[in-house]
Amino acid sequence: MLRRLTKTQYVDGILAGNRMILSRAITLTESSLLSDRALAREVLEAVLPYTGKAVRIGITGVPGVGKSTFIESFGKYLTKQGKKIAVLAIDPSSPISKGSILGDKTRMEELSQEPLAYIRPSPTSGDLGGVTQKTREAMLLCEAAGFEVIIIETVGVGQSETLVKGMVDFFLLLMLAGAGDELQGIKKGIMEMADLVAITKADSGNEHFADLAKVEYQNALHLSPPNPTGWFPQVITCSALTQKGISEIWASVEKHRSVLSENGNFDKIRSQQNLEWMHDFIKQSLEEHFYQHPSISTHIHTVQQEVSEGKKLPVNAAMELLNLFYQK
Ligand code: GDP
Repeated sequence: MLRRLTKTQYVDGILAGNRMILSRAITLTESSLLSDRALAREVLEAVLPYTGKAVRIGITGVPGVGKSTFIESFGKYLTKQGKKIAVLAIDPSSPISKGSILGDKTRMEELSQEPLAYIRPSPTSGDLGGVTQKTREAMLLCEAAGFEVIIIETVGVGQSETLVKGMVDFFLLLMLAGAGDELQGIKKGIMEMADLVAITKADSGNEHFADLAKVEYQNALHLSPPNPTGWFPQVITCSALTQKGISEIWASVEKHRSVLSENGNFDKIRSQQNLEWMHDFIKQSLEEHFYQHPSISTHIHTVQQEVSEGKKLPVNAAMELLNLFYQK
């Protein structure tokens, strides 16, 4: 059992870039103990002035598209330039399967050995909202510890993309050449969120198909509604094996930042994201409070049964529970 650190020890350690303390601080934010969470919030509040300077990049794509291989290659490209990078993950499957797809550190074996890189697996408990909240906090802690590029990896399934989009500056979608129409249809909503679509595995004879896919995606993006930020999403072919496209992708991230900083949208988006964060936190705390309330936990099973058997109208059942909650 590790000795509990004080707020000052956490704050000083994080600001000094001490990874062991950074990891412990992230663990603290993931704790379900109320006292830990209170301490975590105090630590976050204290380091807040030292956050916000990093480039925040979200990366998504279906399992197998090559995300972790790409991050390894992209990450090494950045560390070679002396940049400190942190890789965080949001894996909504982990609370259900109890085994995190993205949590397996060995997937980025080389990068994890780079002194300038820090890799943290997805929080493994809580619902998607809770996991997202914890990842936001981990991101701030990493920024305070001096990481200049934060990469948030998400599995391309479900709503985690929307949540990640809400916490990053730049959203990168990895796609494969020759994926069927059906898959592309599913991805359409996600494609509209992308600042950059990268067609991966453009190597080993696959280059021609990647170029064809590039044109196809460029056309699809032209048909999408214009991006309100003033940025025109790009499509680049790349390979994690040959490094093709890796430097262009970083150049695109930097260009995006300068375009949005100049037109004023960079700060605007960051402050909107902070407001969203606040509202998400309120919603989550209320929900948690509601379900943990003794009268709710006593009655909810009976009421659920009545609703599922069609004996009670869902709205009336919800009102009944809400009344119990407010009666205290
Ligand atoms: P993830 O599930 O999206 O994280 O995908 P992985 O990074 O685990 O990659 C899935 C498979 O694709 C692995 O066998 C990789 O070796 C392979 N792969 C990833 N990137 C590339 C690439 O750029 N070129 C080629 N040829 N294979 C790749």
